[in-house]
Amino acid sequence: MVLFRRELRVHAGAMRVRLLLLGIGTVAMAGGGVWWWQARSAGRLGRVALAQTEAILACGPRPPGSDGLQAVRARLRTQLAAAGWVTAGQAFERSTAQGVVKFENVRARFPAGSGDPWLRPVTGLLCAHVDSKWFKQEVFLGADDSASACGALLEIARVLATERPAQAQQMELVFFDGEEALDANITPTDGLYGSRHYASEWPDATAKPRFGVLLDMIGHKDLSIRLPSDTPQPLREAVLAAAKREGAGQHFGIAQGPITDDHAPLNRIGIPTVDIIGDFSSRPWWHTPADSLQNLSAESLDISIRVTLRLLDGLLRE
Ligand SMILES: [Zn+2]
Repeated sequence: MVLFRRELRVHAGAMRVRLLLLGIGTVAMAGGGVWWWQARSAGRLGRVALAQTEAILACGPRPPGSDGLQAVRARLRTQLAAAGWVTAGQAFERSTAQGVVKFENVRARFPAGSGDPWLRPVTGLLCAHVDSKWFKQEVFLGADDSASACGALLEIARVLATERPAQAQQMELVFFDGEEALDANITPTDGLYGSRHYASEWPDATAKPRFGVLLDMIGHKDLSIRLPSDTPQPLREAVLAAAKREGAGQHFGIAQGPITDDHAPLNRIGIPTVDIIGDFSSRPWWHTPADSLQNLSAESLDISIRVTLRLLDGLLRE
């Protein structure tokens, strides 16, 4: 681009500029045709995920037990079914600071042949939380916390189904309810309701997935992802390598310490899980009404989706 500007200044004639553009175009077509296609295609992933996220936000705040959350779950099921996935709810109740609340996780698997998709073991989990944090006086939409991850998961589900069905068949998608605490902060008994329940329900007799990937706050402008410091080493290396291969290494780093999120209950039952999470501690919009649609970027979503697809591609081949 710098070279192009200099060329413009030196050769002011319109014909020269046209020739230069033609030259650039020819080089792109001949040597970089694949690159051009990938760039276009990759940009589309982020744009579609942003549109999915927008539709989720249009349902309003989504604290556990709310109509907004119920509407989002219905939308997730419809979108997943349209891409060929089968879904199942995992409902349960808990006593909370706000009384007895009905929670429900949404799980999705991709059919393989005529067998029951819920009876075969899967290699990996891909997860996000659907709920938004409840605030008494504020309208909190949680655009990046974590509607954006749900939008990204829907787009990843579509890509896997249409372009990599053999990989889709090895995965389970999980949309957790109740990640956020219903009182102030997450404690051992408040928050992570969905993932704690999911982990406790994993049948002893069924082989556990080899890995889990959790996405949380992955679509904000000026993308900054920080993996928890206690991320299982192979997964930490795999994420950083995938980011580098997607040319996005500068957006990924390691947090100062562990992070309490939905990956923790999965790690505890022996499913090594990485939390690909935004650096919320440095973001003034975190858990404020400013975490709205304007907080998001299609480009950031695109990066997160590409890195996740690259990561899954590597992990599922191992
Ligand atoms: Zn949150």
